Amino acid sequence: MSASSPAPVRFVDLAAQQERIRDRVDAAIARVLDHGQYIMGPEVSEFEAQLSAHCGAAHSVACSSGTDALAMVLMAKNVRPGQAIFCPAFTFVATAEVVAWLGAHIWFVDVDAATFNMDPASLETAIAEAKAAGHEPVGVIPVDLFGIPADYDAISKIAAREGLWVLGDGAQAYGARYHNRRVGTLAMATATSFFPAKPLGAYGDGGAIFTDDAELAETLRSILFHGKGTSQYDNVRIGMTGRIDTMQAAVLIEKLAIFDDEIEARNRIAARYSTLLSGHVETPHVPDGLQSVWAQYTVKLPAVADRAAIQSQMKDKGVPSAVYYAKPLHLQDAYSHHGIAGGTLPVTDMLSGCVLSLPMHPYLDEETQDRVVEALVGAL
Ligand SMILES: *Cc1c(COP(=O)(O)O)cnc(C)c1O
Repeated sequence: MSASSPAPVRFVDLAAQQERIRDRVDAAIARVLDHGQYIMGPEVSEFEAQLSAHCGAAHSVACSSGTDALAMVLMAKNVRPGQAIFCPAFTFVATAEVVAWLGAHIWFVDVDAATFNMDPASLETAIAEAKAAGHEPVGVIPVDLFGIPADYDAISKIAAREGLWVLGDGAQAYGARYHNRRVGTLAMATATSFFPAKPLGAYGDGGAIFTDDAELAETLRSILFHGKGTSQYDNVRIGMTGRIDTMQAAVLIEKLAIFDDEIEARNRIAARYSTLLSGHVETPHVPDGLQSVWAQYTVKLPAVADRAAIQSQMKDKGVPSAVYYAKPLHLQDAYSHHGIAGGTLPVTDMLSGCVLSLPMHPYLDEETQDRVVEALVGAL
């Protein structure tokens, strides 16, 4: 690239956000250094209270990561071998990984072609097949992929009929809205992630679990601290090191303060992308009454398009893109022996071949957006 070419576009721009809040983050970190309570310091419970006020969940339990958030709920529900849990195959590996940790059967469910989220009809198929295989269905893990909440009404109805709990994997969707509710209140429990590149990201690993069930919240607080009872030296169950660092909670308090403003910006940017790209590619579909937080802005390329060639031409113009997910979980070596709804997941397979995610963050200006759009349309 010649010296006069503009700098490459950032896929996610954490530096622009940091510039906005750097003073406040510096002060927050300095406060932690001053009081020295690096584990379970006052910022942890303060952040939890702010999360509950923000999303409406009765209980917010901050923890070490989104993966651990999912795992600890499964531990609290005593998930064990012989049981079956249903999740989409078109997701990040952590959704299924935690089920495998506990030795339960995973049943991979297909997704909806428009929303990329769990298809309730495919869930019905998987439940019937799991029962026929002699597995004991216990729970469903819908994923709010790319920031759009799953179809919780339809999934909860099926789950209630079958006596299954629902654990929302909201790792990509904290802050998203589902009619008059927010992610965190749509299931028995919801796990989210504060991995730096997620919409609400820390400066390291972090996560949270949301629930309205006080007993579950208390069990989770025990599990994340080695199964503590009245003290950490009274061990009433098998637990783990699942706490969030005080330092990360302090950073997240500052990030949560600007998060609703950032969600607005993400939605403004996504709407503009969709206007500029309509007619060229299939733009994302957000169902009526829902609001995404745009963890990814993901389009579907025309069936005839050569995705790798498009990505490389875009890259030549300094525009990064990404494919989430090129190899769905039912095709991964470590997971291919698990159940597959109907024996094949045609929508998942189709999407993995044609999706493309574009740069997305709240500080993407119109000029940069135009560059992204021109690079993609030019490559097409
Ligand atoms: C990021 C992610 C996770 C895991 O979160 P970590 O904080 O990285 O452990 C789980 N599920 C989905 C869908 C994710 O995108």
